Formats: sequence, structure tokens, C-alpha cells
Amino acid sequence: MNALDPSQNRVIVVGGGPAGYEAALVAAQLGADVMLVERGHVGGAAVLTDVVPSKTLIATAELMGQFREAESLGIDVRAEDGAPAAARAELAGINARIKRLASAQSDDIRLALVSSGVKLIDGTATLVDNRTVSVVEHSGNEYQLDATTILISVGAHPRELDSAKPDGERILTWTQLYELPELPEHLIVVGSGVTGAEFASAYHALGSEVTLVSSRERVLPGEDQDAAEVLERAFRSRGMNVLSRSRAAEVVREGDGVLVTLADGRKVRGSHCLMAVGSIPNTEGLGLENAGVQVSESGHIVVDRVSRTSVPGVYAAGDCTSVLPLASVAAMAGRIAMWHALGDAVSPLKLRHVASNVFTAPEIATVGVSQKSLDDGVIDAEVVRVPLSTNARAKMQGIEDGFVKLFCRPASGSVLGGVVVAPKASELIFPIAVALENRLTVDQLANTFAVYPSLSGSISEAARKLHRRA
Ligand SMILES: Cc1cc2nc3c(=O)[nH]c(=O)nc-3n(C[C@H](O)[C@H](O)[C@H](O)COP(=O)(O)OP(=O)(O)OC[C@H]3O[C@@H](n4cnc5c(N)ncnc54)[C@H](O)[C@@H]3O)c2cc1C
Repeated sequence: MNALDPSQNRVIVVGGGPAGYEAALVAAQLGADVMLVERGHVGGAAVLTDVVPSKTLIATAELMGQFREAESLGIDVRAEDGAPAAARAELAGINARIKRLASAQSDDIRLALVSSGVKLIDGTATLVDNRTVSVVEHSGNEYQLDATTILISVGAHPRELDSAKPDGERILTWTQLYELPELPEHLIVVGSGVTGAEFASAYHALGSEVTLVSSRERVLPGEDQDAAEVLERAFRSRGMNVLSRSRAAEVVREGDGVLVTLADGRKVRGSHCLMAVGSIPNTEGLGLENAGVQVSESGHIVVDRVSRTSVPGVYAAGDCTSVLPLASVAAMAGRIAMWHALGDAVSPLKLRHVASNVFTAPEIATVGVSQKSLDDGVIDAEVVRVPLSTNARAKMQGIEDGFVKLFCRPASGSVLGGVVVAPKASELIFPIAVALENRLTVDQLANTFAVYPSLSGSISEAARKLHRRA
């Protein structure tokens, strides 16, 4: 299996998440001999434990949220005897659906890879040098493979703290949530970044009491501050207990529950605790030093904008690199690696144009420049913020929280970015992303018809507000 046909590129992809499987599909399309080694399931953490499961859980949580608000839109949800009807989240069923869906998605990807000619190897790979990969198959077979190009796309795993060791039953990482047989009575979420905020939002909507422990001044410290404030207000007004500037010092099991001790000595008791305190790249023990691949102090592989590592012929993409940890970015970085390695047309990764979303209620979607870079004087931009409370469609749908924020260049009016805080903001950010990518001006955006009434009407209203007389 290790004889390398010099007439053909042999690409070995290590890790079959979005970075790896998208890269493998491109390499196969470009005629390379492609092998993908995956130690778990293709689709990776993105499909099996992270993106797909969390967004499937959130889909159910959204429906529960709508059910709770049904009465305000004129729907009588009382039972025959006049008692308030209660929708209950059956977590065992919800989790079974999530796991079925994730597994089916993994099967779909497997089929797509196989039918495009990628050879799949179920096993663990390590680097022997910059042209050789050692494989231990699950079956026990061991061998080495030569390659002209190696792509490392091994992803990351949840960070665990010695002071809060997950036990898989009461103290949990996000990968362990889908084994819960019933809804936590009181879930304490440690960490108020994107992952912590999304699960806090979802479990609260499903009916758990939720305490969100945030070491920072406000939730989502990395996001637009106005957006984070709207979300935190919405969380509190729905009854979530948000503990700001509260660092969790220790989490231990206490009988059938958990005890979280904060750094200032306060104690919070709950039934379960979710630790959402970041990720660690899966680069340890991968043999990167054998190939001379440079890694950062945090263990992330150092790459350039076409996914090259410090070693010729060895590329890396996705969460194991120091690039933005998003599935969409991982997939693009993987494709770029193969376009570059196999000599196709390629443009370097443009992180400024990445649209991202926090799947809370309401959602927060962003693209392009940030308010912080404007406030810090890093960029020069004009900005306008239009609240959704004046949008006719929002009123009809009972949406009270949210806004559209748009940034443009002062002289030319070209769109530099935006923030949307709304239900389904992930869908609404696209016109702003298109405008940014194609250097459209706010006038071009404003002159594009928006449906009336629609939430996207607020995007065109924001663009109109940024018009400057010629
Ligand atoms: C809770 C949560 C929700 C998220 N939601 C979103 C979202 O909504 N949208 C979004 O864009 N991003 C989201 N992300 C981020 C997203 O999950 C990651 O950016 C994405 O998974 C990165 O893809 P990857 O290919 O780098 O790695 P992964 O998906 O982690 O895949 C890596 C694969 O490599 C395999 N592997 C590791 N080592 C070896 C080895 N030595 N040999 C063989 N195989 C190996 C692993 O088994 C794994 O299958 C979320 C993350 C989390 C934690």
C-alpha cells in the first residue's frame, strides 16, 4: 500500500471533519489519489458532537420558545379544563433524534467521499516525516503510506480543568450532553462564550432552570457589545440567572447534584454543570515534530492564508490550526489547501469576510468589521443601528428584541460589515455578506427591493440611513 506512483499526486488527509472531508472531495475532483484516515466517524466533531447536535437541540428549543409565546399572539394554549397546557421537553427522545440525525449526516458524507473516489481508512494516523504517514487501522493492521501532499485536519476537543473534572453524568463537556436521560432540573453553565451562551439559551427554553457563570463583565465577550447586551437582557428577563464577573474556582459532585464554588467564595448548587471553557487542538502525539511542523504554544499548527504549514508539502486546516474555529472556515481552509497543493486557481482565506452566528434566542449574526475596531480607532467607518421594534413584520411576529447594524466606508459608502440580532439572524446576515464580498455601496443595498413587510426591510432601512448626498 505504500508504493507511490510518481505520475500521480497522492494526498493523505488525516482527520475527516469539515476541513478534511471538504479537502478530500476537492483533491478527488482534481484527479489526485486521495486517502482519508479517520479515527472516529467522518463528519468529525462538527457532525457527531458539536455543530449538528447543538443546532438540532436548538431547533427543538426554538419550538419550545415559540410555544411559550403563543398566547401573546392570540393562541389559547389552555387545556379543556382551563388549566394551562404545558409542553414538556422529552430529552431522551430529543437526544435520540439528535444522534440519529448526526449519524445519518455522517453516513451521507461517507457516501459522498466514497462515490467521488476517496479511499477511506478507519484508523489513527501519525506523521513519520513530511512525506510519510503511519496508520494503525481499527482492525489492527499497521502500515506506512507515502504521500506527495499531507493535510492535517485533526480538530480539537473540549478543554478540561483539574478543578472541575467532567464525570459524564453530572459534570459534563458539551460532547456528553446527548447521553442525558432527562432534562436537567438546574443546569449551571460555566463559560459565557458562544458555546456556553448557546447551551444556556437552549436548555432554558427547554425548561431547565439555568445559571450562567460568566467570568467577564457581560456574556459573549468576543461579540458586538450592543448585541451581547440585548442577549443578556433577554436572558435575564426570561428568568435565567446570569452571574457576571464570577469565576468558577471549583466544581464537584454533591450527592445527586453539583456544587460550584466561585472564586469569591459564593456557592451555587445545581443538578448538572456544563463546562464550556474552550477547546484544545488534537495535535499532541501526532508526530508533528517528526516532520518539523511548527506549532504555537497552545499546540495549534501555524499556517499561512493558503493553509501551508512551516514544512513544504504539509498543509493543515480547521480547529487544529490557529485560524478562526468555525466549521465553515475549516471547510474553506481545507479546500484552499488542496487548490493550492494541486495547482488549481486559489485565493487566500479572507477572514474579514466570514459570516458567523451565535445560535441563541435571539440569534446574533456578524460579518465584516466590528464596532470594537471602530471604537478603538483601528478603522474609519460610519455606522447606523436600526432597532427591530419599529419593523412592521417584527411587530406582527411579536419580536421585541433585536436590531440591524450596518458599517460603511465614509467616503465611498461601500459596505464594511454588519450585525443582525434577531430570530434567524443567521439567514438575515447573507445580504450584508454579499454586499461586503462584492464591494456594494449602501446605496446599492438600499436600492435593492426588500419584501414588505420583512425583517430584511430593516437592512435596507439601515442602508438608506447611511446615504450621503452626492
Ligand atoms: C458546541 C459547538 C458548536 C459549534 N457550532 C458551530 C456552528 O454552528 N457553526 C460553525 O461554523 N462552527 C461551529 N462550531 C465549530 C466547529 O465544530 C469546528 O470549527 C469544526 O468542527 C472544525 O472542523 P475540523 O475539520 O477542523 O475538525 P473536527 O470536526 O473536529 O474533525 C476532526 C476529525 O479528525 C479526527 N482525528 C483526530 N486525530 C486523528 C488522527 N490522529 N488520525 C485520524 N483521525 C483523527 C477526529 O476523529 C475528527 O473526526 C461549534 C463548536 C462547538 C464546540
